[in-house]
Amino acid sequence: MHIVGADCHGGRPGWREGGLIEEFRLEDAVNNPQRSFEFWDLLLYDKVLSEPNITLVLDTVLYAAETENGLIRRVLARCDKTEHLYRVTARLFLDCTGDSRLALEAGAETRWGREPKSEFNESLAPVIGDRQTLGSSILFTARDYGRPMPFRPPKWARPVTKEMLKFRSVGSWEYGYWWIEWGGQLDTIRDNERIRFELLAIVLGVWDYIKNSGDLPSSAPWAMDWIGALPGKRENRRVIGDYLLTQHDLEGRNGEPVDAVAIGGWPLTIPQRFRRVAEPRSALHAVGLQHPPPLPLRRSVTNLFMAGRNISASHVAFSSTRVMATCSVLGQAAGTAAMLCATQKPPSPPALRGRTVARVAADPPPG
Ligand SMILES: Cc1cc2nc3c(=O)[nH]c(=O)nc-3n(C[C@H](O)[C@H](O)[C@H](O)COP(=O)(O)OP(=O)(O)OC[C@H]3O[C@@H](n4cnc5c(N)ncnc54)[C@H](O)[C@@H]3O)c2cc1C
Repeated sequence: MHIVGADCHGGRPGWREGGLIEEFRLEDAVNNPQRSFEFWDLLLYDKVLSEPNITLVLDTVLYAAETENGLIRRVLARCDKTEHLYRVTARLFLDCTGDSRLALEAGAETRWGREPKSEFNESLAPVIGDRQTLGSSILFTARDYGRPMPFRPPKWARPVTKEMLKFRSVGSWEYGYWWIEWGGQLDTIRDNERIRFELLAIVLGVWDYIKNSGDLPSSAPWAMDWIGALPGKRENRRVIGDYLLTQHDLEGRNGEPVDAVAIGGWPLTIPQRFRRVAEPRSALHAVGLQHPPPLPLRRSVTNLFMAGRNISASHVAFSSTRVMATCSVLGQAAGTAAMLCATQKPPSPPALRGRTVARVAADPPPG
């Protein structure tokens, strides 16, 4: 997808995140004019390999954390491809797993779903809170092969009709459809396999409609050349830190935080209904933010930072901070803060708690 943030996808000219994300984008513009996303991956791989202080461990999942006195002491990770177990001991940790897996394993406080309006007095929050989240999506790419390209769907593809798509545009075939979004009513982590199946069935059903319904004859030379195998997860756990961002912060009503490290700027995008392809398109609150709001740097558990879509925010605030350029700058800020903490004399836990870094769980992990 396109990296968006303060520029609001071109809607706010002149605003753009600086730092690492800008360096990467400029280099990509020069070396990857063909816009191949594998080459973007290669660029990121190269950047990490080029840093002497990073040990890159790919295909490896963190599955447990050991804590002591409210601090994470060690994380355990596993690479099944090489049959290695890793035990990583450190003074500071960053949870950038999107799903907040380290925070979960460390027993940090997390949130899931939509807060009721009464909790933070947010105008975009529902009256009654619930566990609904934004759903996941599977995307595809397609191209014009210049000759008829037949498509036969698998038998489990969902039948999709013109009536079902009456509120949606299927007129462009290059990139798939972000609105094929499903699973927000389920658990986007535990139900990931079910969500994957349903999304694949819907994507292939939509493509079957495009290719075989007869309504779009100019799709004849088009064929899919890639389809996602992993549902893109938009939302699940958020880690609660020293400070929790709300709609009021995003709309600039709480002033500028003293530890502002990034800017937001993407609209607050709250679907009123959770999107299914077979239902009318949801109304989308896209509340533009007049000025990109400054975002603070705070901790979760005493020695845990988080960056990305899992930062300490209400569901409404998250709907703006979750985009890639914003996540990237927050990641750079958390990494820089961790480096500063690691290279300075270790503060005692109470002193660290008073500082404006991200926060760590005080309680021992469950079980
Ligand atoms: C379909 C879709 C369309 C979107 N469109 C746009 C768009 O057009 N523009 C935009 O800017 N943003 C878009 N977004 C939002 C944006 O892509 C995400 O919010 C953002 O990428 C979140 O980044 P993240 O690093 O916090 O989390 P993630 O992207 O979820 O990355 C987390 C990483 O951690 C890894 N991980 C998870 N658990 C573990 C573990 N236990 N051990 C080791 N690694 C682990 C995952 O494999 C993953 O690589 C879209 C999101 C979706 C789903």
